[in-house]
Amino acid sequence: MAETGITLRELDSRPVADLKGVGPAREKALSAVGVVSVLDLLGYYPRRYLDRSREATVAELTTGAEGMVLVRIERVSARRTRNGRSLVEVRCGDDTGRLRLTFFNQPWRERQLREGMQAVVFGKVDEYRGSLQMTSPVVDLIGDRTGRIVAVYPQSEAAGLHSWDVDALVGEALRRTMKVRGLSDPVPAEVRNRYRLVERSEAYRTIHRPEGMHEMLEARRRLVFDELLRIQLALVRRKVELERTATGISHAPAGGDADPVALFLERLAFDLTGAQRRVIDEITEDMICPVPMHRLLQGDVGSGKTVVAVACLLTAVRGGHQGALMAPTEVLAEQHYQGVEALLGGMTVEDPNNLLGHRPLKIDLLTNRTTAADRRRIAAELPAGQVDLLIGTHALIQEGVEFGSLGAVVIDEQHRFGVEQRAALRDRNREETVPDVLVMTATPIPRTAAMTVYGDLDVSVLDEQPPGRTPIETRWCEDEADVWPVVCSEVAEGRQAYVVCPLIDESETLDVSSAEATFGDLSDGSLSGLRVGLLHGRVGRAEKEETMRLFRSGALDVLVATTVIEVGVDVPNATVMVILDAARFGIAQLHQLRGRVGRGTQVSQCFLVGSVSTPDAEERLAALVRTTDGFELAEVDLDLRGEGTIMGERQKGRNDLRLASLRRDREWVEAARAEALAMVGDGSGMDDHPELADEVDLFLGEDESDYLLKS
Ligand code: ADP
Ligand code: MG
Repeated sequence: MAETGITLRELDSRPVADLKGVGPAREKALSAVGVVSVLDLLGYYPRRYLDRSREATVAELTTGAEGMVLVRIERVSARRTRNGRSLVEVRCGDDTGRLRLTFFNQPWRERQLREGMQAVVFGKVDEYRGSLQMTSPVVDLIGDRTGRIVAVYPQSEAAGLHSWDVDALVGEALRRTMKVRGLSDPVPAEVRNRYRLVERSEAYRTIHRPEGMHEMLEARRRLVFDELLRIQLALVRRKVELERTATGISHAPAGGDADPVALFLERLAFDLTGAQRRVIDEITEDMICPVPMHRLLQGDVGSGKTVVAVACLLTAVRGGHQGALMAPTEVLAEQHYQGVEALLGGMTVEDPNNLLGHRPLKIDLLTNRTTAADRRRIAAELPAGQVDLLIGTHALIQEGVEFGSLGAVVIDEQHRFGVEQRAALRDRNREETVPDVLVMTATPIPRTAAMTVYGDLDVSVLDEQPPGRTPIETRWCEDEADVWPVVCSEVAEGRQAYVVCPLIDESETLDVSSAEATFGDLSDGSLSGLRVGLLHGRVGRAEKEETMRLFRSGALDVLVATTVIEVGVDVPNATVMVILDAARFGIAQLHQLRGRVGRGTQVSQCFLVGSVSTPDAEERLAALVRTTDGFELAEVDLDLRGEGTIMGERQKGRNDLRLASLRRDREWVEAARAEALAMVGDGSGMDDHPELADEVDLFLGEDESDYLLKS
């Protein structure tokens, strides 16, 4: 019965030392691999499984190919080679033949491998003096386990923990758990049935002791679901809590003669894309609703996020509130300021205090470079509501900046915007309301990953490029000599080019010297006669701006740069992007860099230069050649790199993703999200699932959830 079963919380409160056979030494060994409680032990899942009925025999091994075979150790000897390396030689075999294993520089193998032991060895088979041999194979010791399927646990040589030790303890823990009450199952039967999930007791038993591989897979499905459900419950619960406890603003719906949003959209020289229309609707709906919006807008480079941002800000202005647009750098803030001024110039807003009933829309820029006089003026006008839109850097949410009524904040290229920043925003307001927040990113991540990484946000996607974009032709050139003639001929046509220098070990100093060297080589060599500029992280601010201004105005033909040009730089006349040693960059970065071209009416080209040394690098470059779709590239990236990179730091801490993978288990992420949303409902739902709520706390305690939700 579910009600009377043992909860995971109870298992967590039982130390492994309570199990038979766990003395102080073993207790220490277990704790070294993170196993302290019986729950930890049951969550110490097998690394892999051996299916005895399918293991090859020695006679079936093929020379030159990899093979795996179950053998009995017969004799172990150790010596030093002539050049002083340690060499352990092992004779072993099964009923069908003999095998020799050699291990170089692994002297501990002599102690590990003993006569009479059973081991599964995996490695490349070769022939040595007429007998079969494996050099430094992977070895799994399985003790004297019988049965068709043998679980192999992660072993720790350092801690002296062997697979069969774990196996025996798990057996004992399972026996004691299942004998009395079995495990309680807090996931409602209805949900289990929907996904054909086995019961929890069954899952824990068969992940460790499957009768067949199919049983193991069923267990895995269930445990993966549990892991993902807990994460989604934590995220959804937090999201709903924030929404319930914070007072937002009910922004005015569309309408009226002087609706600034409508006027702005009418004035645009182009029609909105379907995606822009849809996303603006999503945002408007959020903003009309009194719950504070916290939405992520993912949109590839050039998908037209600025228009969406401005519509969002003007929706706040429509009801007499203010809007803020925050950019990651001063250069981008200034670029935004100019862009928004150009889009909204001459527009008026209603103002009952004005004799005419309206006044010009007021846009201001606030960065660390704003003069003291302007700063004072803004400080006076902002609380009085005389500034409608304030554009700037993080300076916007700093101490001393006070809005009359901040209604909407758009954050560009800032991936995480956490709880603290939201609190800071609330503090910027005279009223105790939380403004609506829209976070924009041009680095798309796959949907299911977004659900986890940004699980406390709603997500909108601009998945459509405005019409008439000239596609970017991407080529991969092993030899850079092939590229420079193209650059020269494009420049002769009046166009401009970027040359991005290789990243060197993440070191800025080395990046700089590499950029300087490339700049020198090119100006005196392949690009001599062209006007070449240089931009990197160590160039002073004034010089950087001057260089950018010259490039923008067409006074420079080629810009040699480090990745400082990655974000936001917009020069439509630039049609060539050359990325040197492209294999050193990640997919997302290459995609961002490529996005610097293809912004005008001319066909643009991107050259990925250099050779590759790994299959992964080859796949990365091939993907970029194949597609310019950022979402498709994000999926490839996830496939190649796994979720670790997306989860980032989080992965290093304690976490509950043991079996689940955001990559392999995409559909389970979606299922878990849907179930979590249904269970949490408007916030009271978890009351019906106290045991699940408690489990979330257990696995993703306060610290962990904070970590998930913080920048
Ligand atoms: P990003 O998403 O990279 O910030 P921008 O907002 O800078 O993209 O838009 C890129 C360019 O596309 C700008 O010049 C903008 O005016 C233009 N643009 C935006 N939306 C449309 C549209 N619906 N039709 C045509 N051009 C558009
Ligand atoms: Mg932009």
